[in-house]
Amino acid sequence: MVETRILKIDPERPDPELVREAAEVIRRGGTVAFPTETVYGLGADTYNPSAVMKIFEAKRRPADNPLIVHIADLDQLFEVAADVPGEALALARKFWPGPLTMLLRKSPRVPGEVTAKRDTVAVRMPAHPVALALIRESGVPIAAPSANLAGRPSPTTAEHVVRDLYGRVDVIIDSGHTLYGVESTIVDLTRDPPVLLRPGAMPVEEVRRALGKDIVIPPFARGLGMADVALAPGMKYRHYAPYKKLTVVEGDYSDLEAYARGVIEVVRRLSGDARRAVVLCSSETRRYYEGAGLRTIELGPRSNLFVVARNLFESLRLIDEMADVDEAYSEGFPEQGLGLAIMNRLRKASGFSIIRLGGGDVSSPAGQAPH
Ligand code: AMP
Ligand code: MG
Repeated sequence: MVETRILKIDPERPDPELVREAAEVIRRGGTVAFPTETVYGLGADTYNPSAVMKIFEAKRRPADNPLIVHIADLDQLFEVAADVPGEALALARKFWPGPLTMLLRKSPRVPGEVTAKRDTVAVRMPAHPVALALIRESGVPIAAPSANLAGRPSPTTAEHVVRDLYGRVDVIIDSGHTLYGVESTIVDLTRDPPVLLRPGAMPVEEVRRALGKDIVIPPFARGLGMADVALAPGMKYRHYAPYKKLTVVEGDYSDLEAYARGVIEVVRRLSGDARRAVVLCSSETRRYYEGAGLRTIELGPRSNLFVVARNLFESLRLIDEMADVDEAYSEGFPEQGLGLAIMNRLRKASGFSIIRLGGGDVSSPAGQAPH
């Protein structure tokens, strides 16, 4: 057990004294959970291998799943990356600080513990005043994955971090709810054309437009099947998952009433007791489920996927907290904009228990019905 200090820091005007206290822990080789604009991260000094190992221990994270290096200025980019191609610099100028992570060749300064012995490093500059202040005050880039126990939904509030990591990390900074609620978009720029390793808060369409060239979207980036380990090491693990069973029911979203009727039929057919099931749904379709006597968790409006993304991980955690619920079903969303990240997380959270209404294929070997 570690003694965990909780520091409440105003995200708008971070108290320099509290930031200094947290930075001191980083400098001394400790672990600090901190807010970013995507989800909470669990950070340590990138250049201190034993500090970095503490992250893996606290999260029970497999050592072969590398971390993202968080920086506060472009000098640090040149410190951690051996080679910064013009494309990377252009994306950094356009999207940083922000929810885009770039995979580049690593510099020898970055220890193998951070990158799981790979010769690449994932880098991003977060757009959160507390994260930036913490990195600056620590004086080193901060290596951090999401601040949850391995396999669990990522934390979007400090309470989620407390639940997973209290007594396992030195400091938990509480700055309230994060802005986006899904992790950063990861693009591998060591390949040509670049490859999307994980869809996230920055829509891949925007990155593509800025690059002026194609970005390959492999099936695993859509949450269909396991990743090619050589490309995306972390993506081979079960992820974001509630303890209870979750099934994603996808379909044609152009007629929402017909779609919801289809979901209701699936719930009635597959659940042992429909009264003990819950449906994660959009604002537009909630009334159909309620009308059919089913319980719901409202994710947000289809017309504003930003809200759905923001509520997603909290809703996945909520499934486990509902005492009179045994299993969950989730609606699907179109894979455009934030929808791609939402579907990646939902499909993985379900352990690839995916049903496609109308019998169509979600173009996946893993996309079959569970029973
Ligand atoms: P998390 O934000 O908790 O998902 O952790 C960081 C993510 O970045 C993981 O999914 C890693 O697999 C990914 N990542 C970090 N470094 C690399 C790398 N060198 N190559 C491929 N993926 C990486
Ligand atoms: Mg994670």
